[in-house]
Amino acid sequence: MSPENRVAQLRGEIDKINLQILELLNKRAELASQIGKAQAEMGINFYDPVREGQMLQALEAANNGPFSNETIKSLFKEIFRATLAMEEHEARANLMVQRKPNQSNTVITLADGTEIGNGTFQLIAGSCAVESLEQMDEVGAALAERGVRIMRGMAFKPRSSPYDFQGLGEPGLKIARQIANKYQMFVTSEIMDASQIPMMSDYVDIFWVGARNMQNSFLLKALGKVRQPVILKRSFGATLKELIYSAEYIVSSGNPNVILMERGVRTFETWTRNTLDISAVPLLKMETHLPVIVDISHSAGRRDIAVPLGKAAKAVGADGLMVEVHPNPPVAMSDAKQQLSIPEFHQLMDALQTI
Ligand code: PEP
Ligand code: MN
Repeated sequence: MSPENRVAQLRGEIDKINLQILELLNKRAELASQIGKAQAEMGINFYDPVREGQMLQALEAANNGPFSNETIKSLFKEIFRATLAMEEHEARANLMVQRKPNQSNTVITLADGTEIGNGTFQLIAGSCAVESLEQMDEVGAALAERGVRIMRGMAFKPRSSPYDFQGLGEPGLKIARQIANKYQMFVTSEIMDASQIPMMSDYVDIFWVGARNMQNSFLLKALGKVRQPVILKRSFGATLKELIYSAEYIVSSGNPNVILMERGVRTFETWTRNTLDISAVPLLKMETHLPVIVDISHSAGRRDIAVPLGKAAKAVGADGLMVEVHPNPPVAMSDAKQQLSIPEFHQLMDALQTI
């Protein structure tokens, strides 16, 4: 047989083996998928390093070459990686918050018909914390002038130091409610613990879970039982997958009205308080059907880049932005460096109209 014919014949055999490997790979994937579903039911992790180690050892022991053990191990590790990715993808596809093909967006409708997630750009604004009736009134008037519908009424502040201002508590909620009623706005306020739900329900239109509580699954499950929508902030150390699972806790517990908020993640950068992960917006819009809002205050931690960040949020397809506004930021009791003054808030609103 000529060398040309020999090569053609061997290639024909390789083509057959490729198809056999393909069939076996998919058979293996099918079995792994069944294991993944059972593991999901049991609530255990798909990744099992001990099991992987055992499989690699068995393969090494059975390997007679010509591939080296190292080559065999790296080939199979690639198969393991692909299998794990498939199992995780399948698990996410079953989540209630995961966007299914052609699924429309979740639109959250407030009592007067105000909508979040309907394609318009909603503002959530107000001071970092409720400090006094006068401060809230001044901010409320400015927000109302620009048509803001949702006001921050923060009365419980999760501060890094226990010696910093912790918020006014229930009296602060009373002030927020009074000002919101005066300007016909809705109040959103951060909840720290499920035990606060009955008390806060008297004052609050939208519950708010801060970055530090994003993975407080007991609080998330309790908020699945309330009638108010819930804003869920991404933790500064959480992946988007973790944020999606946190949202799933609320939705699967019975409350479909969840709003995701990107607030920046911790990086090595020191010129900003956190790094605004702008790519989170299109990714969350793609992976989930929930509204996504960008916090331009805590992400940057500085007021001088609020306008460009706000424009970026709108341009990238967010459903709105959250910004802190204070009548006199330098003397604010919290987050003095990032709150916008009222003239700066008006500048932001003007700039957003150009996008
Ligand atoms: C806030 O928005 O009031 C706040 C405390 O932010 P974070 O939870 O993102 O730190
Ligand atoms: Mn703040």
